[in-house]
Amino acid sequence: MSKLFVISGSSGVGKGTVIKEFLNKHPEFKLSISCTTRGMREGEVDGINYFFLSKDEFKKCIENNEFLEWAEFSENCYGTKKEFVEKCLSRGENLILEIDTKGALNVKRLMPEAILIFIAPPSIEELETRLRGRHTETEEAIQKRLASIKLEIENSKHYDFVVINDTVENAVNRIENIVNL
Ligand code: 5GP
Repeated sequence: MSKLFVISGSSGVGKGTVIKEFLNKHPEFKLSISCTTRGMREGEVDGINYFFLSKDEFKKCIENNEFLEWAEFSENCYGTKKEFVEKCLSRGENLILEIDTKGALNVKRLMPEAILIFIAPPSIEELETRLRGRHTETEEAIQKRLASIKLEIENSKHYDFVVINDTVENAVNRIENIVNL
């Protein structure tokens, strides 16, 4: 039977790398493609990384009740289409949603069979060091990010599993153990 997994974790935690490595090893899992109103980044492809929608198109989807869940961050909207998830599951595919914690908890409410996995840093201090090490953000931006990370960690208390990302290999192994349960 196909299973639905939801994976969250703040940026800087290395969530993207862990998921990518897991999918390389397990092609029988599929990553869901969300809709977003944010601009396309270099190297991204419409229909592969996201379905890139205009604000009006996104609004229409909300009005037509097409989203399983949706959220807004920094003035951009992100949403998971019900139809996308239903089609994958009915084809017998194991699906992974990579979405934020609020969206994840909404999915769990509507689909209690969904398995929620939170990827956490070994410690907040370690994450702060990692974020500062990037030298790409102002102090204000780092503080804002740390506050949202703390909120996500708070939300993760309602998750089924928390995976500590000390190394990518360990984190992937832990996810493998969870999906094989
Ligand atoms: P980015 O703009 O870097 O691709 O993604 C920003 C954030 O949006 C990430 O934390 C990602 O998990 C979240 N996200 C991506 N797609 C969705 C979605 O469909 N629903 C929700 N709630 N969050 C999403």
